[in-house]
Amino acid sequence: MVDISKYTKQLFNLFCLSDNILIISHINPDGDAIGSQIALYQYLKHIGRNVSMMTPNYLQEFLKWMECSDQINIFIRERNKCKKLIDAADLIIMVDFNQPNRMGEAEGLVIASKARKVLIDHHLDPTDFADIQISESSFCSTSELVYELISEMSSQPFMNKVYAEALYTGIITDTGNFEHGSYTASTLRIVADLLEAGVEKEKILNLVYNNFSADRLRLQGYAMNKRMVVLPELKSAYIYLTKADLKEYNHVKGDTEGFVNMPLSIKGICFSTLFIEKDGFIKLSFRSKGMFPSNEIASLYFSGGGHMNASGGEYYDTLENTITYFLKVLQENAWRFENIE
Ligand code: 5GP
Ligand code: MN
Repeated sequence: MVDISKYTKQLFNLFCLSDNILIISHINPDGDAIGSQIALYQYLKHIGRNVSMMTPNYLQEFLKWMECSDQINIFIRERNKCKKLIDAADLIIMVDFNQPNRMGEAEGLVIASKARKVLIDHHLDPTDFADIQISESSFCSTSELVYELISEMSSQPFMNKVYAEALYTGIITDTGNFEHGSYTASTLRIVADLLEAGVEKEKILNLVYNNFSADRLRLQGYAMNKRMVVLPELKSAYIYLTKADLKEYNHVKGDTEGFVNMPLSIKGICFSTLFIEKDGFIKLSFRSKGMFPSNEIASLYFSGGGHMNASGGEYYDTLENTITYFLKVLQENAWRFENIE
């Protein structure tokens, strides 16, 4: 178990000395980004700090139910207000990402700001862009790390329902509802604490996982049936969706969430890729099993990064050319699959 007490004294001092604190989560924020952000916000309010929240772009539908999520300022919607918040901040806390470009269009302003910057994250290999980097990849989620930091810095354990539900949401979404191997006995002890604090778990599971449109389910069926290619000899499978496919099924943000995990349920497949056609580029999501480093494929070939088993990147070309390039990359990396079960 990592000793996080090395961070907490300095962090708590910073919290107490700062007049305006801004918490920033990453572009296309997921449950862990928003969960850890709202949890920190709750704690900082509790200790009497002046604190705001910002995210580079919009929240996905399945997170909008979260209490306090309506207080998150969206940079691309409220640029002026967000610029003022960045300017006024003397402490900026960045959660759940490890590279500054994950702040999207806010990156330049945040990096140029004179505020002290703290990173709280669980991704591997962070770029050095914060004054204090709390980067611990042994945690299943940034939410778990936030829980441990706050527990360590409070003599009286801090807890309230909004805080507990935010952290619970972060933990279930980043572990695929306890399906990925990343959670530990300690995670489950934290979850036990959160449940005892009154988390309504059925309500949250329904809001997060059973909240899709019929079109989304049809898109999923179409993606698996018509757009999935399985390459057993390379232990890989990929799914691609064109702009026209998404339009046909009235796609809204978040609809393709989880598709990339599905090919991993095929026997013998340990690397899965999802290509989504965007304006002028292709967004790629990668998932892998075991020791296959999907994040190395992401960073070496697709200007991206992430975790060993969940990562992403992008490629500025047509869908067809991107898939051709990807297949070449797979061939070049065939050696990596040799010892993967
Ligand atoms: P997803 O496939 O769910 O969009 O992303 C999975 C994980 O991959 C994210 O938690 C994030 O860590 C990482 N990731 C996704 N896209 C990118 C990207 O473009 N750049 C980097 N550095 N990481 C990404
Ligand atoms: Mn996370």
